[in-house]
Amino acid sequence: MTTASAFRDAGVSRVLEVGDDGYADAVAGFDLAVEYAPDVVVDAHAPADVATAVAVAVDGGEALTVLGVGHGRLHALRGGSAITLRHLDAVEVDVSGRSVRIGAGCTWVPVLAATTAHGLAPACGSAPGVGVVGYLLGGASARSPARSGTAATTCGRSTS
Ligand SMILES: Cc1cc2nc3c(=O)[nH]c(=O)nc-3n(C[C@H](O)[C@H](O)[C@H](O)COP(=O)(O)OP(=O)(O)OC[C@H]3O[C@@H](n4cnc5c(N)ncnc54)[C@H](O)[C@@H]3O)c2cc1C
Repeated sequence: MTTASAFRDAGVSRVLEVGDDGYADAVAGFDLAVEYAPDVVVDAHAPADVATAVAVAVDGGEALTVLGVGHGRLHALRGGSAITLRHLDAVEVDVSGRSVRIGAGCTWVPVLAATTAHGLAPACGSAPGVGVVGYLLGGASARSPARSGTAATTCGRSTS
């Protein structure tokens, strides 16, 4: 198993273990009946943390579970290593380009706040607390699919 010290030694600044302050928030999801209890959670604060954590996991031949916002969890997770992107939540609106660039850990809440102020609206679903990337990866249907298609088709590009 990849240990917390392996991530720390590689330069990841915030690594949480069961019982640490912030661990419960880092693994929290929507359905409290679905237990999420990885041994180690990388609490990424910058893209470099993500790259480093992935490299450490790959070097160790271990899986690194991506914790989204937690709205779509159906099965428990026990043990192993995980990464949460919840602090990568920047939102930049390009009004003339009618587009928005978001961090990997955003929910729709700040995206809606930033876009609707300019008369724009993202192709989100019915729950603003859902994670945007998790939603897009699922190809989720927008509230008005006849007008905007599926949300995934509105996605321009991703960067790593
Ligand atoms: C009980 C239930 C109720 C729902 N209700 C609604 C609803 O009311 N409205 C609505 O719009 N949708 C709803 N959904 C669907 C929801 O939009 C999708 O399940 C969506 O994938 C949730 O994304 P999340 O990040 O919140 O969830 P998560 O379960 O955390 O993530 C979903 C998947 O995406 C992956 N993922 C998330 N973020 C990233 C990332 N940045 N990089 C790589 N992988 C990532 C995760 O690893 C996971 O495999 C519901 C789903 C369930 C199970």
